[in-house]
Amino acid sequence: MDIHSWSRPDEVQVRHLELDLDVHFDRKILTGAATLHFDPTSHPELVLDTRDLEIHSVENAAGFEVGARDPILGAPLRIRLTPGCSWVRVNYSTSPNASGLQWLDPAQTAGKRMPFLYTQSQAIHARSWIPLQDSPAVRITFEGRVRTSNGLSAVMAAERAGNHFRMRHPVPSYLIALAAGDLEFRSLGERCGVFAEPSLVDAARREFADTEAMIRAVEEMFGPYRWGRYDLLVLPPSFPFGGMENPCLTFATPTILAGDKSLVALVAHELAHSWSGNLVTNATWSDFWLNEGFTVYIEGRIIEKVYGQDRYAMEATLARRELDREMESLPESDRVLYLPLAGRDPDDGCTLVPYQKGALLLRTLEREVGRDRFDAFLRSYFDHFAFRSISTAEFLNYFRTELSTTVPLDEWIYSPGIPASAAEPYSDAFTCVETAASRWRNGETIDTSRWSTQEWLHFLRVLEKPDLARLEAEFHLSRTGNAEILSQWLAMSIQAQFEPGLALLDSFLCSVGRRKFLKPLYSELLKTPEGAERARSIYRRARPGYHPIAQHTIDGLVFADR
Ligand SMILES: [Zn+2]
Repeated sequence: MDIHSWSRPDEVQVRHLELDLDVHFDRKILTGAATLHFDPTSHPELVLDTRDLEIHSVENAAGFEVGARDPILGAPLRIRLTPGCSWVRVNYSTSPNASGLQWLDPAQTAGKRMPFLYTQSQAIHARSWIPLQDSPAVRITFEGRVRTSNGLSAVMAAERAGNHFRMRHPVPSYLIALAAGDLEFRSLGERCGVFAEPSLVDAARREFADTEAMIRAVEEMFGPYRWGRYDLLVLPPSFPFGGMENPCLTFATPTILAGDKSLVALVAHELAHSWSGNLVTNATWSDFWLNEGFTVYIEGRIIEKVYGQDRYAMEATLARRELDREMESLPESDRVLYLPLAGRDPDDGCTLVPYQKGALLLRTLEREVGRDRFDAFLRSYFDHFAFRSISTAEFLNYFRTELSTTVPLDEWIYSPGIPASAAEPYSDAFTCVETAASRWRNGETIDTSRWSTQEWLHFLRVLEKPDLARLEAEFHLSRTGNAEILSQWLAMSIQAQFEPGLALLDSFLCSVGRRKFLKPLYSELLKTPEGAERARSIYRRARPGYHPIAQHTIDGLVFADR
């Protein structure tokens, strides 16, 4: 039972989707048809999820009605079936405000000449552009045909042949994805490549050069990559996430193009989802940690294998501190792995807890049973549940039949906080950074010439209330091309009311839409009355350029006290 879907797959389960869509950039809508195939049934009704869709007609059915719209779930589309029926075709169009579509004007792209469209279906936004059973427990194969009104190229996350797309493996609805824009392609190896706007595509090719090595690294540890090609699509900067693991075609933010491969852990993360998430999927959004905790764990293993133990230790240590910081701001009920989401939008459960606490649990299990045995377990887990959606209880049952442990699994999963036995990460390099930070605080000059992005981030985070004018004079942080370091610098500038930093805030918040950067910066601004005024003034201008998901998050912060 999925509380975030109107559909009733226990009665009729859709198996295959044929999608035929026209992309109208002028009206910011999609029009077309979704043909849904299922086993012949005598059940009288098929219920689909929709949100803000205009349903024109339903073919091969005895009738239909659209129910009342729920603010979180959208509206059920109830289709009356004829006896023995095995398919229906829904003719529909989307709304310009569809929560899963972002339509960008040319000014919001890198090239500034052509518009751009991309979808974001996770968690429950597929229903805003396709009428379907929008639950991760329902897996379907699909085919798509997509035409654009202005000749721009469209891509779907699937096998591609011209404007025809096909997904042979059954996938959950949140992995159905489409993008259209001025895109060029560069090959990265035998089975991988990158799409991006022409002005970004070569930078993206250099940044992602290790992708094939990453795929081989996971295959050696956890079994074959089963999706054919692995390509990346670099989106415009308004993309609300770091990445989205759409199968065969990861969507990624351009804010990871740092020029030195220092932020490619994101590629490792999205690639890891080809096993944890896309192959073995959370059955409901409360089980989200099965997707994300496993993926952060595998991401770390890729980084360790391709870039070395030091880099892994630094990234894990940074993440561990971020988890502590975020948990402090969460109610106890949200510090558990199995998330209580009744009456809530599943996007609200998307904190660091399922990601980092989940990964910490797996590292703790690995430490206890030993790496070899744990890797063998994971490999068999992916084989056993391949192309299936499972619950936390199913994972626990399987784990307990394969391995025994003294790790208190129920406490990790159902109780708030981090159990004392956690396998905490430790970085030698960061110990050196901490020494450097205390010397710098004492007025000494320090050598930072060989520092990585991770060392910089740790340095900035351990300096307590530093003299920002001196920091800027020595290190020119406002001129960094690295979005992670810049956003850290901007947060510190807000805390210290440091005008030269604050002056950059406007252009950053008006050009970048990644929630990871927006949320802390707006939250920091809202701590003081002057900051709150600045936040509202910037947000008024920036909001139209943000994705609906980011708008929803920042609305909740900026308008919370109104
Ligand atoms: Zn993820």
